Amino acid sequence: MQRLQAFKYELMPTGEQQRQMRRFAGSCRFVFNKALALQQANHEADGKFIGYVAMAKHLTAWRNSAETAWLKDAPVHPLQHALKNLEKAYKNFFEKRADFPRFKCKGQSDSFRYPDPKQIKFDQANGRIFLPKLGWLRYRNSREALGELRNVTVSLSGGKWFVSIQTRRVVETPLPHGGAVGIDMGVARFATLSDGTFYAPLNSFKRHETALRKAQQAMSRKQKFSNNWKKAKARVQRIHARIGNARRDYLHKCSTTISQNHAMVCIEDLQVRNLSRSAAGTTETPGKNVRAKSGLNKAILDQGWFEFRRQLDYKLAWSGGHLIAVPPRNTSRTCPACGHVSADNRQSQARFACVECGFEENADVVGAINVLRAGHARLVCEVSGAVMPPAAGTHRSDSGRLMPT
Ligand SMILES: [Zn+2]
Repeated sequence: MQRLQAFKYELMPTGEQQRQMRRFAGSCRFVFNKALALQQANHEADGKFIGYVAMAKHLTAWRNSAETAWLKDAPVHPLQHALKNLEKAYKNFFEKRADFPRFKCKGQSDSFRYPDPKQIKFDQANGRIFLPKLGWLRYRNSREALGELRNVTVSLSGGKWFVSIQTRRVVETPLPHGGAVGIDMGVARFATLSDGTFYAPLNSFKRHETALRKAQQAMSRKQKFSNNWKKAKARVQRIHARIGNARRDYLHKCSTTISQNHAMVCIEDLQVRNLSRSAAGTTETPGKNVRAKSGLNKAILDQGWFEFRRQLDYKLAWSGGHLIAVPPRNTSRTCPACGHVSADNRQSQARFACVECGFEENADVVGAINVLRAGHARLVCEVSGAVMPPAAGTHRSDSGRLMPT
């Protein structure tokens, strides 16, 4: 099987390279925002969606216009890639996987990608990489990148520059081991498995919350754009980066353990909008989502859940397993013992007690069991041809060979 993998290294750029990278990231952001504004204005004028090819022509015009001639200083492929990113953001929105594309601000995901491997020279032996318009850059050679280089992303995080090298290589298809498991995602417990194991809540943010609040307050007291303000701002960004890293580490640990020990993992097919809606206070789905009410906390949870699912998906693929997304229907209200569906079964946030047969269990474990059942049901349907095609995006069509036992 083919395996795509990213290898990330810290760059050791010269001062001039840092200035250039900042400019390139700014140019890509500018192109993204300009294209988004154009797309919106066009939509308001009842125009049709502007596809990538047409948008790339606009980009050429911008690069040739006297007003934005500085765009020519940036490498063209990363600028085009910014347009591809916008198109992808729209696609995710159209397919209800994400909210409407937002304008990018400076300091938030400063990055750009070189999509063409032919323009890149990767000299691992000497710990350096050649990128168009930047020249040779040194990086901290922390581990060996395996496979054939596909593309390179340069990004700024916490005041440091990184290069992420995506490669492709052929590896032997592994045989999956372990059984099937269902996962219930929540707030009080980040993830609960149908076998009863659970993972602590995703609250790495809380630990740094005070530090962040203090740093933000300090920043607000400084005069904007003064040197002290810049210092305070750098501190806020460092704390943000630290929070992000802690969260990513945690998600990776969870997703690695689960994917290494199971051949089939079933998860609720949560969509951003489902979460947003219920978090806004609709009583359609009285259950776990409603708990994630407060704005920032909710955003972090959304991110965490989606990132977790993304990681599970590719890690399971690496280990020969499968991720199956099931629609979140009554998973918190159905009795696993007798099948009775009632909101009354959910006595409290933590406790499930069936009003019909008296079955009692932790509510999150019940949710996970029901997710697992729904996943099994889905597989059986597909194998017999009753459901065609699979509705969930992450589901692989060759999952028929993985019958539940
Ligand atoms: Zn029951």
